Amino acid sequence: GKGLAVFTSGGDSQGMNAAVRAVVRMGIYLGCKVFFIKEGYQGMIDGGEYIVEANWSSVSSIIHKGGTVIGSARCKEFMEKLGRRKAAKNLIMRGITNLVVIGGDGSLTGANMFRQEWSEHVESLRESGEITEEQYKKFNYLHIAGLVGSIDNDFCGTDMTIGTDSALHRIQEAIDAIVSTAYSHQRTFILEVMGRHCGYLALVSALTSEADYVFIPEMPPPHDWPEKLCKKLDQERIAGQRLNIIIVSEGAVDREGHPITAEQVKKVVVDKLKQDTRITVLGHVQRGGSPSAFDRVLGCRMGAEAVMALMEATPETDACVISLDGNQAVRLNLMDCVNKTKAVAKAMADKEWDLAVQLRGRS
Ligand code: ATP
Repeated sequence: GKGLAVFTSGGDSQGMNAAVRAVVRMGIYLGCKVFFIKEGYQGMIDGGEYIVEANWSSVSSIIHKGGTVIGSARCKEFMEKLGRRKAAKNLIMRGITNLVVIGGDGSLTGANMFRQEWSEHVESLRESGEITEEQYKKFNYLHIAGLVGSIDNDFCGTDMTIGTDSALHRIQEAIDAIVSTAYSHQRTFILEVMGRHCGYLALVSALTSEADYVFIPEMPPPHDWPEKLCKKLDQERIAGQRLNIIIVSEGAVDREGHPITAEQVKKVVVDKLKQDTRITVLGHVQRGGSPSAFDRVLGCRMGAEAVMALMEATPETDACVISLDGNQAVRLNLMDCVNKTKAVAKAMADKEWDLAVQLRGRS
């Protein structure tokens, strides 16, 4: 059977295990020899015990676990050509010509570069006698399918990334817990949520928790936000509300592009309104815990579709990313999506927020 390997890279997210499980089982079902690569690209370069053959039962009882059971890492060595050459040799030695990469845009960019360089690595390994003539002929191509695992929902081309829904559940639980204590003491709570340069988690959790105010990177507030914020909080208290909730996305900025932090917001509320104000930084709790049903199903569907895409690939097929489009798992050109995601980051850095939102599209 064809050699197929799956690995997770970059930041972990809930639902990655469901995807790994689906890749392994679909691969075996279709007659492939399937491998795990542990610890992302580092394991691919180190080889040995980091690349292990998987069987049907090696992915039993992982679908409900958060994070990734096969480990993830960031790997400097893979950024260098020499590191990628080592990785290529390890894959060829095991007959792996198909890769499913589960990670963020960095991991997918690396995978695409690896694929583009593949023939160069194979040539060089043959010349130095590190691989045989037979291996050279048999393993002269590499197919890649990417899945986006990220709690941030920051990738262009897919409506949802694997992990976002679970992170939202976690945030929601935390806010609900805080609301009950805030109510008792008539406090104002400022919650900092993750998302890097993407305000999706902050915006959706603000909607679902009846927050009074939200700061997101894509929509910097007007210059007089301190007055507007205080007016709004005041109104709510006058109307009889016993608490206020403010959500600050970790990437929130003002119109000059300077960060707006939870501390800054607190200072405004305390100085102007003298409200009893507390900050909660949710931090890594958001990435933890078991994946939601949605993320489990998403991981399953995307993992299965990735294997099918690889099995149907020809040497001319470009690397693809599996995306959720409405309720469909679809295949999109990997590099197009990565480039679009980079264009969004550039627009944000250039303070062209409307353009960023437009480029990001539906998600
Ligand atoms: P997250 O969104 O969670 O940060 P990511 O995949 O974007 O995930 P990165 O740290 O950017 O995370 O990338 C993970 C790994 O992918 C890097 O440590 C590196 O090994 C590899 N990688 C990233 N960018 C490249 C690149 N341009 N060329 C080669 N390899 C890369």
